[in-house]
Amino acid sequence: MRPPRFQAASSFHEDLKGRIKNYFLEKNLKTTGNFSLYFKAIVMVLAFIGIYVHLVFFTPIWPFAILESIILGALTAGIGFNVMHDGAHGSFSRKGWVNELAGISINFLGANVHMWKTKHNVAHHSFTNVDDHDDDLNAGAFLRLGPNQKRYKVHRFQHRYFIFIYAILYFYWVFFTDYKKYVTKKVAETPIKKMDLKEHVSFWGFKAVHLFLFIILPIYMVGFIPWLVGFLIFGLATGVIMSVVFQLAHVLEETSFPTPDKATNKLEDDWAIHQLKTTANFATKNKVLSWLIGGLNFQIEHHLFPNISHIHYPAISKIIKDTCREYGIPYIEHPKMRLAIASHVNHLRHLGRG
Ligand SMILES: [Zn+2]
Repeated sequence: MRPPRFQAASSFHEDLKGRIKNYFLEKNLKTTGNFSLYFKAIVMVLAFIGIYVHLVFFTPIWPFAILESIILGALTAGIGFNVMHDGAHGSFSRKGWVNELAGISINFLGANVHMWKTKHNVAHHSFTNVDDHDDDLNAGAFLRLGPNQKRYKVHRFQHRYFIFIYAILYFYWVFFTDYKKYVTKKVAETPIKKMDLKEHVSFWGFKAVHLFLFIILPIYMVGFIPWLVGFLIFGLATGVIMSVVFQLAHVLEETSFPTPDKATNKLEDDWAIHQLKTTANFATKNKVLSWLIGGLNFQIEHHLFPNISHIHYPAISKIIKDTCREYGIPYIEHPKMRLAIASHVNHLRHLGRG
């Protein structure tokens, strides 16, 4: 299946790029991360290591162990959102090796950065909400996330059980879909960039590191059943947090699910307008949430400028919003996270019923 094509870039996109470029020139700012981002990265990584060591080597009594397993899951998602995501987009630092290092954090947590770059930077960012191309829309037969997907009877209840599917995302990703991508050499319809020997060794080497750090060593230290309970809680917490944050940005009542024209294989908009119709912001005034989830509540800014670090999104969002208003282009946002969740649940309910 050939990748769909977009319409030629509109004057809106050119104008917007110019305004954002001027903002960084006028303020004399780099588009990459700054001290506050590196400080946050260090805090999150040290907190992760501290809690991991406490859980595995100095295991507290079970109520605290459960709480720490949930926090470890939240920190896994947090490192993914704040460090790995910017690193893999090349926006964490001006230095290539720092971005590489930030991206590799995902390998220590069980997934693989090479696969991620194809799944996220190419498939998801290019063809947002386009079936068969955006792998984030693919939950198998378990969930009907877009109106162009086949409906099964079980989907009638998907607005009630979706959270259980989201919860298994971490396990499904780390233990199944990474290997599926490795074997099939593609993500949905997007081929994975050819892996050289170094990348093959890195793939298997890091999978072995993950196996040792998250399974073998903890079982040796705390025993099988305590490990199993802790690992399940950790993985389920990671899965729920990651899925919810990503779904609230795209899979909503207000966003579009465009299909390419059958004859021309072209989508109806240019790339930038496509991003605006398929992406939404939520709770952008919530500074704590923005800090924790790496600015992924500013998904519009992220999708239009994925190579700009998330620390700049609050500042550039005003320019983007004003430009959209001038050109009469939608800028979808939910002021509160609970409203975005309600929209996501309603979307699932409607798609489950017809
Ligand atoms: Zn991204």
